[in-house]
Amino acid sequence: MRELFEGAIKFKEEDYLNHKELYENLKKKQDPHTLFISCVDSRVVPNLITNTLPGDLFVVRNIGNIIPPYKDSANDLRSGYLATTAAIEYALNILNIKNIIVCGHSNCGACSAIYDTQDKLKNAPYVKNWLTLLNPVKKRVETLKPDSKSKRIWLTEQINIEYQLENLMTYPFVEEKFDSGQIQIFGWYYIIETGEILNYNMIKREFKPIKTN
Ligand SMILES: [Zn+2]
Repeated sequence: MRELFEGAIKFKEEDYLNHKELYENLKKKQDPHTLFISCVDSRVVPNLITNTLPGDLFVVRNIGNIIPPYKDSANDLRSGYLATTAAIEYALNILNIKNIIVCGHSNCGACSAIYDTQDKLKNAPYVKNWLTLLNPVKKRVETLKPDSKSKRIWLTEQINIEYQLENLMTYPFVEEKFDSGQIQIFGWYYIIETGEILNYNMIKREFKPIKTN
């Protein structure tokens, strides 16, 4: 814990001073250009992997970078899905962000937990319930009959991103802004051990390494 206290002091003395003007301007308001939806995994660090600064990304994180279907949240305003749904609504309808990135990652615990046969989550009923949102992903993967455990996980992590993009389009304001060209939407797959990010091509339905041209 001492490291975190020392880190806070170091931040103020170094990183903050390097961007003092930026922080002072950010006092007035935030105007992020991108809604970044990622897993809570400690190895996925949105600002680091996108080389961005405070104020750039509006970040929503949950276990498994899941986007609950809009109808599920709208039908039950007390549902446990509202933190994510409300953040998406705020980003689009209040902050008017221009891009959405749904970022999954390799070695995702959520994606492997849905195949758990040993009931490792018996002491985590909320997690178990949350992960039922991945049941359609599991079904989709099973139809592809992956021939190894590693292939199954890799497929699950990538199909999860594809599926969450579909869920995102069930939000009426997302669909409207996307169709009218007001926002761009991307699916990313971050590979922890190589630092590489694959970008999802919605037309070809495949992931390819990110290029800027
Ligand atoms: Zn994860």
